[in-house]
Amino acid sequence: MDFTSLREAFPLIAGRPGLVYLDSAATSQKPKRVLEALDRYYKELNANVHRGAYRLSVAATEAYEEARRRMARFLNAEEREIIFVRNTTEALNLVAYAWGLRNLKEGDEILVTEMEHHAGLVPWHLVAGLKGARIKAIPLTEEGRLDLSALDRLLTERVKVVSVVHMSNVLGTINPVAEIARRAKEVGALMVVDGAQSAPHLPVDVKALGADFFALSGHKMLGPTGAGVLWGRYEVLEGMGPFLGGGEMILEVHVDRSTYAPPPQRFEAGTPPIAEAVALGEAAQYLMEVGMDKVFAHDRALLAYALERLEEVPDLKVYGPKGEDRGGVIPFTLGRLHAHDLATFLDQEGIAVRAGHHCAQPLHRKLGVPATARASFYLYNTKEDVDRFVEALLRIRQKMAAWV
Ligand code: PMP
Repeated sequence: MDFTSLREAFPLIAGRPGLVYLDSAATSQKPKRVLEALDRYYKELNANVHRGAYRLSVAATEAYEEARRRMARFLNAEEREIIFVRNTTEALNLVAYAWGLRNLKEGDEILVTEMEHHAGLVPWHLVAGLKGARIKAIPLTEEGRLDLSALDRLLTERVKVVSVVHMSNVLGTINPVAEIARRAKEVGALMVVDGAQSAPHLPVDVKALGADFFALSGHKMLGPTGAGVLWGRYEVLEGMGPFLGGGEMILEVHVDRSTYAPPPQRFEAGTPPIAEAVALGEAAQYLMEVGMDKVFAHDRALLAYALERLEEVPDLKVYGPKGEDRGGVIPFTLGRLHAHDLATFLDQEGIAVRAGHHCAQPLHRKLGVPATARASFYLYNTKEDVDRFVEALLRIRQKMAAWV
């Protein structure tokens, strides 16, 4: 696979040779194929799905359901287990409300980790607050891994939900979710995986993970904004009540009561993001054609090269584990420079990185810094991008010597 020529398929990347885009953990760029799928849907297929007797609506429905089949193949799941939502945030809220609100009771515990994105914490705060449940966290080691030795103490019969990020959006740590899922099952807890960062970057097989739920955002995996997926194990979905109520998700409605369609329709109330889901299906197809193992190997090679070259920059501190269990995300600080200033200086050099707490305040508290700058890679990045990034940092370090 020639990853350098692949850049040509990404109009924004190909059209801006001055830009080094290192913010794919926030959102990815989109290949032409995905943009064309979005455009083609509106020009050739646009109609509402699932309720039209006319041919155009049937074709729109078929395109939407083909996207569901593609997402199922992408995750090694069954088609009826794929629920289209807006993003990971909505997927995790769906689980917290539709499962948690009905099943949690006072004194129950929800086990999260100290490296969760706020989307993996706040929905549980909301539901735990309503039900009187408690939240505990698996702590981190100094290297930025989960300290699984704490599981013996934390994972008791009181734990009803274990919710873990698959790959950290700050440290890049890839967590051993299959092992945690196995432990969660031993105490009968529901296992929820935040796959916002893993789905775009690693081969994911939800069956092999052994979890009950897996959430992803389409916009981070070459798809458009507005469409994501919640995968749920069918037996669990079947036993759950709905999240949102309205059209599309019912069997029968009376003025005072209703019954609900089987999954996945039960969880897709109202008109879904049809065009966006179709384009997300195209993105998944594109990634499967490239090969997720190759995408991961490419990210890993850039990460290794970047970590080595970054050692040339005096006073640069890089966070996150060193090892195979890490994806292409690099959080860093430079001396006493504020992360936002650092990101602004890098922008002046044409390098786009994110700065802040990256929606992971508990993790930054643990790291002992209010904010970090973060560079993240994807399949369209190259070694030249890394070189330009490191050289820009060296210039900034020199210019700002008094501040580091
Ligand atoms: N979890 C993780 C690990 C993430 O990186 C993100 C996005 N930064 C989210 C959840 C939330 O994704 P979205 O904003 O697309 O809902």
